[in-house]
Amino acid sequence: MEKILIVDDSALQAAKLKSILDDEYDVSVAQTAEEGLRRASDEDFSLILLDVVMPGMDGFTLLKKLQERIITQNVPVILITSLSDVENEQRGLVLGAVDYIVKPFHSLIVKARVNTHIKLYHYRRQVEEQSMTDQLTGVANRRKYDGYSLTKWQEAARLQVPFSICMFDIDHFKKYNDTFGHPAGDKVIAAVAKTASARLNRSTDFFARYGGEEFVAICMGDPSKKIFEHLKKIRQAVEDLHIPHSPDVSKWVTVSVGGITVVPAAESAYGVYLKIADTMLYDAKKQGRNRVVWADEQMRQMWEK
Ligand SMILES: [Mg+2]
Repeated sequence: MEKILIVDDSALQAAKLKSILDDEYDVSVAQTAEEGLRRASDEDFSLILLDVVMPGMDGFTLLKKLQERIITQNVPVILITSLSDVENEQRGLVLGAVDYIVKPFHSLIVKARVNTHIKLYHYRRQVEEQSMTDQLTGVANRRKYDGYSLTKWQEAARLQVPFSICMFDIDHFKKYNDTFGHPAGDKVIAAVAKTASARLNRSTDFFARYGGEEFVAICMGDPSKKIFEHLKKIRQAVEDLHIPHSPDVSKWVTVSVGGITVVPAAESAYGVYLKIADTMLYDAKKQGRNRVVWADEQMRQMWEK
């Protein structure tokens, strides 16, 4: 059931609104703007119905605060008020409200508008989700990775936790495509993505298609040794898929893996470490492929085999 938050200082008005929406939605009520802000930040609402005139923080101020916060700025807000003048309506819409309902309201109108905005919110989230997903593999795409990596890098610097950047590349992939054709190559990309992403699925893991036959993973919180051991298993799992490769390069399809674990300093640039991860991948290729090469917290290199 979709969750709706009503923020209204009048218990009577809030109860009236709640009774209109109760049968279709999971409706919560906050009686002050402060409580509304806290609940909107902590919970996942699909819509907020917001009273404008309240003692203390008013609806306009709360709306502005909701718009400023990343976690609440996308939740649609409908203002509900007895202020019927055009100036206030305009102010609300400029501040980012999606709609404006004037008291006294008609229950069918409220219901219809709420339904419409919840539908639109759903649709927008769906489109956003699709634009962040790689179509072939179903994992996150480069665009999602670009935003995610920087957010998490800053988080790791703030919390001072280990941050691992991991690059995967399917070995001799051009040769595979030349031998078996692109449709078969696509199947290999999808199979590798499935195998690796299934093993990098904790809430602190992130896995994306970087482009072509390359993937990138980000893992937070684990030291280099643990990540290194885990990646060796993933590399082995890909080999164990036993997808035949072109016989003149190797028996099975394999991946090379390179990366780095670092506790980021506050001022350190992500790009520098991404480049090191890439260099480790290059070394894995150079040393014969189908292996993991890693740079640990002290920038010492770890090799597999
Ligand atoms: Mg009021």
